Amino acid sequence: NLSKRLTKVASYLPKGAKFADIGSDHAYLPCYVCLQDKSSRAIAGEVNEGPFKSAIKTVEYYQLNESIEVRLGNGLGVLNNLDNVEQIVIAGMGGALIKSILEEGKSKVQHVKRIIAQPNIDARNVRKWFNENGFIITSEEVVEENQHIYEIIVADKVEWNMSKQQDLDPKQLFFGPLLLENKTKEFFEKWSSEHEKTERIIKQIKKAKVKDERKLKQFEEELIWIKEVLDHEA
Ligand code: SAM
Repeated sequence: NLSKRLTKVASYLPKGAKFADIGSDHAYLPCYVCLQDKSSRAIAGEVNEGPFKSAIKTVEYYQLNESIEVRLGNGLGVLNNLDNVEQIVIAGMGGALIKSILEEGKSKVQHVKRIIAQPNIDARNVRKWFNENGFIITSEEVVEENQHIYEIIVADKVEWNMSKQQDLDPKQLFFGPLLLENKTKEFFEKWSSEHEKTERIIKQIKKAKVKDERKLKQFEEELIWIKEVLDHEA
């Protein structure tokens, strides 16, 4: 059984997807997708030997060798132009790592139509990269599972004939432009917990012998934003 988090991620892939799952670990996601939809094709990328072997095992177990190729390598470096990958999934990592994988692999995403990212923290980094690299955020979701809160961000390549442009301001980057417009129960749960975390961090910075004034200012500003957003719940 695939986790609720990864099931949600998978739901953003179209039928007949031609996708890469970068940092696939056990390759549970591509196996789930290709078992459900025989017309989907996937490349599972892994940088570490252990997970790479686990991925191969899962694919063999489900006899999906025809649909899924497992490759060892760093980030989007496992892809070449002949793969014609149309969607990329990068899930279960920090936003800074996801951003650096996208940045380093920029040349590989020229023909990609959709990127589905699920950053565990620092989603802002990922939104910023999309915003600066010709992708438009088309869906966002906050998912809760086993007391953890996850964000899923779906971005589509801006086509020449799309009039829509997204120029995200700092608050939209922080909370998510679509999440701000349609605040769910999970969204409020996430930001109540971030509120507590931010207050704790501010206290720690204030207590420190050498205060990082710049950081302090940043967190204090974010705390105000979070309070504003939470106040609107009532
Ligand atoms: N994507 C799966 C999920 O969401 O459940 C697995 C997440 S797991 C926490 C992160 C995986 O990413 C690990 O298996 C790790 O080896 C892999 N990874 C980390 N950095 C990577 C990179 N630069 N390129 C490819 N894989 C990477």
